[in-house]
Amino acid sequence: MFSIVGGHPALDLANTVAPRPPGAVEEEYLPDPEALVRWARLAGVIEADEPAEPSAAALADVLALRALIDPVLAGQQLDVLLRRWAAAIERSRLIPGPHGSATLHLGTDPALVIGDRLANALIDLVRNADLSRLRTCPLADGGCGWLFLDRSRNNSRRWCSMDDCGTHAKSRRLTERRRSRR
Ligand SMILES: [Zn+2]
Repeated sequence: MFSIVGGHPALDLANTVAPRPPGAVEEEYLPDPEALVRWARLAGVIEADEPAEPSAAALADVLALRALIDPVLAGQQLDVLLRRWAAAIERSRLIPGPHGSATLHLGTDPALVIGDRLANALIDLVRNADLSRLRTCPLADGGCGWLFLDRSRNNSRRWCSMDDCGTHAKSRRLTERRRSRR
């Protein structure tokens, strides 16, 4: 079952395959351009009524961004991310608000809006998120390798979600224990 658990849109993008590498990928949640647009709405990257054009180019753009996440989190290929982000900023607009304020509207092109927002999200992740709280659902213990920000008070979240991996791992341990008792 697919769920949004990363706590940040850039991590939710990373979590669109299961398990995540280095596990052998069994499920691809962005198999085609239409699936990308559906996911982007579900993940809150674009609003429900916002125009977004599904296209092979848009999907390739987003998959390239997804492939950047692990290197970027390891401090690599930051210049590639910066160039993609600069292109997104180039296409954005400042919309005037009250008292001389302005808001930045990112993603003015329906063909590129999802990639533009996700490039900006990845920049936001490395600049502003508390990455000391970044966790990986433990592959070695039967988890899925998904990434998430642990926002629990005592810093103890271990699984992407208790409903999925946590419960599966628990019932598997229970079965193993029963088996070894026999
Ligand atoms: Zn998991």
